[in-house]
Amino acid sequence: MNIPTRSAIFLSLLFHRTVLSLQPPAPRAIVVGAGPVGIAASLVLASRHGYDVTLLESSPETSIQTKYDPTKAFLYNVNARGQTLTKMFPNLHDKLVKRSVESKGFADATITVVPADPNLPIPKSSKLEKSFEMRNNENNEAGNAMPKSEKAVGVGYWIPRHEMVGLMVECIDEHNEKGEGGKISFYTGKECTSVSPRDVGGVFVEVYQADLVVGADGMNSKVRECLSHPRSAVGGWSLDCPKPNYFKLKKWRSPASFLRIKVLQLPPQFEIPDAEGNPPLITNSENIYAIRSIYKGPRNYLSLGLLPMKNNTAVRATNIVTRPDHEVWKLKDGIAIQTWFEKAFPRMNFNGMISNEEWDRFARAEGTRFPHCQYSRGMAVWDENGDSGVALVGDAIHAFPPDIGQGVNAGLMDVVCLDRALSGLDTVTGKEAKSAKENDKPSLGKNLARYQKQHSPEIASLIRLARFGAPYQYRQPHRADRILRTLWTLNVAMRLILNKITFNLVPPTCIILSQRPELTFRQVMRKADLTTLFLKVVVFGLIGLRFRPRFGILSMLKP
Ligand SMILES: Cc1cc2nc3c(=O)[nH]c(=O)nc-3n(C[C@H](O)[C@H](O)[C@H](O)COP(=O)(O)OP(=O)(O)OC[C@H]3O[C@@H](n4cnc5c(N)ncnc54)[C@H](O)[C@@H]3O)c2cc1C
Repeated sequence: MNIPTRSAIFLSLLFHRTVLSLQPPAPRAIVVGAGPVGIAASLVLASRHGYDVTLLESSPETSIQTKYDPTKAFLYNVNARGQTLTKMFPNLHDKLVKRSVESKGFADATITVVPADPNLPIPKSSKLEKSFEMRNNENNEAGNAMPKSEKAVGVGYWIPRHEMVGLMVECIDEHNEKGEGGKISFYTGKECTSVSPRDVGGVFVEVYQADLVVGADGMNSKVRECLSHPRSAVGGWSLDCPKPNYFKLKKWRSPASFLRIKVLQLPPQFEIPDAEGNPPLITNSENIYAIRSIYKGPRNYLSLGLLPMKNNTAVRATNIVTRPDHEVWKLKDGIAIQTWFEKAFPRMNFNGMISNEEWDRFARAEGTRFPHCQYSRGMAVWDENGDSGVALVGDAIHAFPPDIGQGVNAGLMDVVCLDRALSGLDTVTGKEAKSAKENDKPSLGKNLARYQKQHSPEIASLIRLARFGAPYQYRQPHRADRILRTLWTLNVAMRLILNKITFNLVPPTCIILSQRPELTFRQVMRKADLTTLFLKVVVFGLIGLRFRPRFGILSMLKP
């Protein structure tokens, strides 16, 4: 065996140092916001593009998003679109599958509708597709109830938000342990307040400098706000970039916008008393329930909806979604709200079930409001040399009420499209982009330009889907809501019938089409627009036929 001499070791060390110092440093990225979309972006940038990522989250360590928080106690249904991202990371997808409740499409979901009258027996759980009328009534509780004609399209996974974020944070640790690609450094309690370009390379987020900044900081995005400021262009971005006013939100009010929402926490496996003679129903976390109030008025009707989750020993959060003038918002102390609930739900035995502290918390909670249907046309900026830039993803570019069940899924798809763009691919097809072929030397700037150009129309269509897809899902009891919901239902029914009798020649309604992951949102809306055009032609044609003899030229010629 040859024992290396001192000088051999010295030369070897010198060689390695020299070679290492010649290697270009890893590109640097800053991701602002550690919600599901920000974490997904960090994983993609570090593992697939070799970036050293600094992930900044404004929440302090103590309340980091991985803990259950009644102010964000809603569930995601990660559908086939969202799974395009999760499947890029087998460990992430495995965790999701293990910790969530699988749903084979909404049509296959079962729901137990508990009648308000305590003398009525609780019916057996039934399929959401049981009847069109019932679907129209129950889809509040079950997200996107699907018409019978459209059978389950792929599998979705129900998971509470904090658990989804939790398992994604685990994937960051696993990525760093593996040591492949760039490193992800995760800082909590760091709020981004400014983003600015610099003359000499890079983008600054506060004191941090990077080649690429990704704004994943939710619907009140500070990163987007900085880009929308006219001064943001100073010192900076390339002339080809979208102008600052492109980053001002375009907003539309949908019937679900501004509905108020807050959470009442029920104990795990709570009991629902049945009619006399029947044993009580012991709830299970994996089932869907809708518990009706005895009140039916516009300002006091309520339905307690419970969606599926895996953990049968965890608190069961029920979302109270109402118009702002509902009585529950006026009662500000625990005893008053408890009395109201006991009258509204005479079947329930809330006394031993919900603590005084929880009634107090619920009464004081201000809750939150569903947003406009909104999006930013601007999605990226880059510097003149194309070496650095900023991209926006998730709620930072699009937000809408959760009735179409696409919030987190569309956000994860933004990251998939950004990944494609950074890989020189077409963001829509995932194939080699034409522009990339033409340019021998692709740059970050060119890739961001492609993300901006190809992804922006997709988001515009997503927002149209959010406006027209299922805006009456929250079954509000005001008269206007009821009338408009009936009209919306008739429209959906008409499109379904046309779809059937024309053997799929006329596409069904857009909310049904959106369940087909192979269709982009642009294709979904184009198909739905085609049906609208067809209906308009038929209606105007019929009107024309009806009035032709009286007002037509031929009628003037009549004697
Ligand atoms: C009441 C309600 C119910 C919903 N229900 C559903 C549903 O059922 N299904 C569904 O798919 N979607 C639902 N959504 C939408 C869903 O929450 C979002 O689409 C999804 O969370 C978007 O993820 P994101 O990571 O882009 O943003 P977020 O989840 O909002 O995460 C943004 C992160 O950035 C952090 N942050 C913000 N500003 C800064 C800053 N300046 N500096 C650093 N960090 C910052 C925040 O603390 C947060 O952690 C619902 C939304 C609401 C409000």
